Amino acid sequence: MGRVVALLANFCWVELDSPGADGITRLLCTRRTRLGKSGLQICTGDRVRVEGIDWAAGRAAVGSLLPRQSLLERPAVANVTRVVVVVALAEPELDPLQLTRFLLTAEATGQPVELVFSKADLPEPAAVEQWCGRTQTWGYQPVALSTATGLGLDALRERLSQPGLAVLCGPSGVGKSSLLNALRPELELRVGEVSGRLQRGRHTTRHVELFPIAPGALVADSPGFNRPALPSDPAALALLFPELRQQLAAVSCRFSNCLHQGDPGCAIAPGWDREALYRQCLADLLAEAAREEKRTATGPGLRQRGSRLEPRLDPRLRQESRRRQRQQAHGDEPLEELSPPGPAG
Ligand code: GDP
Ligand code: ZN
Repeated sequence: MGRVVALLANFCWVELDSPGADGITRLLCTRRTRLGKSGLQICTGDRVRVEGIDWAAGRAAVGSLLPRQSLLERPAVANVTRVVVVVALAEPELDPLQLTRFLLTAEATGQPVELVFSKADLPEPAAVEQWCGRTQTWGYQPVALSTATGLGLDALRERLSQPGLAVLCGPSGVGKSSLLNALRPELELRVGEVSGRLQRGRHTTRHVELFPIAPGALVADSPGFNRPALPSDPAALALLFPELRQQLAAVSCRFSNCLHQGDPGCAIAPGWDREALYRQCLADLLAEAAREEKRTATGPGLRQRGSRLEPRLDPRLRQESRRRQRQQAHGDEPLEELSPPGPAG
């Protein structure tokens, strides 16, 4: 058994869970067509069983694919167990809303999230401290680092050394590539040891590769999503804010579809640090849901709702009704109108 750490055109590299003959830990495997026939495409990060091992040649074939726990898109990485959000403390200037949106996207994977402040060499130390303290109140244990001075690199390496598969994400220009290069060990040389033909294969494919940072701990070698997305369910948004999640685990609001906007019966006391950011995200999410609804319209006068078609409302009336619904968010009315339409009946 092992994990796919790199994809080539018709082959993949599989890192074995335990070394085989001669201490070999990595095999170049062909990908069998029957995996293709089942519709399953092997992806970097996938857990696989290998068969037909030729230890002398370091070759084998992928026999079967183990059930996938998760799949991150763009780049496609399966079974990610940790998401590292990277934002710069300066150049570009740190934008709390953008940071929040990256954190939400990372939280939406359901995996532990690490927060990294890069370019810590640029701002005044007091500003670094302030951002670290502030995001601790959000529920994170940030690492401030600089690839220029080396500050914080060991701290991050240590966090990523727990078994699993980590992927970085964040806006462009914050230093993710620099960071990956700084984390990346000598392994590069080992991968480079392959024949000329395979070298070419390696460089003509644009897939993610995984590199080990500690035994059993891998990091994806290319940045993950750099455009954050919001969830589609407004009621799910709060659970992506650790500071709300923690409170809501202890006390619940009067209504289960509460959007935590300070209405009576809400368990979330107003005045929390990211309140305005939360509301902004909620508004953006509702606007996106409205646009989505428009896109999935089935005809000029009809729209899909669940498995039914319904007459489309005049947009102005609809705005009205949405506003009413928002006001009623604490009533028993489910926010049906905002949920994405189901598959056609
Ligand atoms: P990416 O787009 O997130 O992959 O960012 P890059 O790694 O390409 O870096 C963007 C720019 O930031 C480059 O000019 C880097 O030299 C610079 N940079 C990266 N890390 C640091 C750092 O720790 N300190 C400073 N001052 N500049 C950095
Ligand atoms: Zn509430």
